[in-house]
Amino acid sequence: MTEQTRFILNETDLPKYWYNLNADNPIPPAPILNPQTMEPVTPDFLSVLFPMELIMQEITTDRYIEIPEAVRDVYKLWRPTPLLRARRLELALDTPAHIYYKHEGVSPPGSHKPNTAVAQAYYNKISGTEAMTTETGAGQWGSALSFGCNIFEIPLEVYMVKVSYTQKPYRRIMIETYGADVYASPSDRTNFGRSILAQDPDTPGSLGIAISEAVEVAATSEGKKKYSLGSVLNHVLMHQTVVGEEALKQMDLAGEYPDVVIGCVGGGSNYAGLAYPFMRYKFTEGKNTRFVAVEPTACPTLTRGTYTFDYGDTAKMAPIVKMHTLGHSFIPAPIHAGGLRLHGMAPSLSALVDGGYMEAVAVHQLTTFEAAVQFARAEGIIPAPETAHAIRVAIDEALDAKEKGEERIILFNMSGHGHFDMTAYLHYYSGNLEDYEYPQAAIEAAMADLPQVSL
Ligand SMILES: *Cc1c(COP(=O)(O)O)cnc(C)c1O
Repeated sequence: MTEQTRFILNETDLPKYWYNLNADNPIPPAPILNPQTMEPVTPDFLSVLFPMELIMQEITTDRYIEIPEAVRDVYKLWRPTPLLRARRLELALDTPAHIYYKHEGVSPPGSHKPNTAVAQAYYNKISGTEAMTTETGAGQWGSALSFGCNIFEIPLEVYMVKVSYTQKPYRRIMIETYGADVYASPSDRTNFGRSILAQDPDTPGSLGIAISEAVEVAATSEGKKKYSLGSVLNHVLMHQTVVGEEALKQMDLAGEYPDVVIGCVGGGSNYAGLAYPFMRYKFTEGKNTRFVAVEPTACPTLTRGTYTFDYGDTAKMAPIVKMHTLGHSFIPAPIHAGGLRLHGMAPSLSALVDGGYMEAVAVHQLTTFEAAVQFARAEGIIPAPETAHAIRVAIDEALDAKEKGEERIILFNMSGHGHFDMTAYLHYYSGNLEDYEYPQAAIEAAMADLPQVSL
């Protein structure tokens, strides 16, 4: 066994293709429905919101999509990212398991999100989009898209969930540094925002509401502005597969193949990005790798949500998709992993969990921070609160392997660093964080409000 800790690829090893799981997924994708007619959407309907190239990527079953040269050029600012073996964490846990992590926190905005942000800005640029709109929760997506839009010189409006806008001013300032305009959502700039403020002026906001605002602005711009989503959609997950394609080569360098692949899930993009290239070999070569998606107990979309058709946003303007959902009216508790608080989940990932190809677990907030601190003290990297969910389960797997005396190979996605989340850590140290379990009654109430789809 090599004693190597970092597994590094050259710039020339940067993948030339994204991988599309829909080519190999035994569960065919369910149709995307128009929120007004409940009929399958036409590319025309989607083209109000997205440029045509991204719509085609959304529905294609081609196995590989070439990464444009201009996008690869920008990726070179931080890609290929390192794969590390967490030797010091293994020692601290005294486990026979080998723990590997793909470090996406080394990107300029600090997470995996620019992998798709840069691609989306590029495709909008070449289709003549004049400006883009988006929502952001914790601010990671907003800063990633602001970074991408700045490179391709596209103005950007970011609707930022109000609780994060207040709790996380540094991310907002980062978004502004890259050049975008940021508004606290709900805002008074949209019909939907004004209607929410009229009902409840003190609402903390939600990702669903912010999505509705960003969608409304694009949909009423007469084609000038396009909307961008940072997770959930197929094309977003596909752009993230650059992570897993690199990780495959790096696990090769390490001379190992993972027994279990772990990631935290908000809308599912960072995890799908790492997992799907490995999932490909489960489907095509019969590899029996385990896949574990980790979510917060405060937003238990996969573990307690229903697998059904639901709107992508609170205002019922975004398309209806089949996914695990807590209901489009879901307003989450203000836990610190803001990026994991969406009501829905990527359709392909939902289908994999429903089909038994992927496991899902929910973990409490306090135990994730405990794992985050243990990881930081062993490996030096302070993880984002979202990422800490994956770390919690990676540690649990390593401890389980220890108990069973197994040399289990564990791989997880280090989706981002936590340098802008020190307030969350502060609350943890001062004992102000609480565990939160989303109430069953709220889940059932939200289910009463699902679209009546006849499929
Ligand atoms: C946004 C974010 C997530 C959650 O989003 P996914 O689409 O599920 O990946 C996870 N980790 C970090 C660091 C994020 O910024």
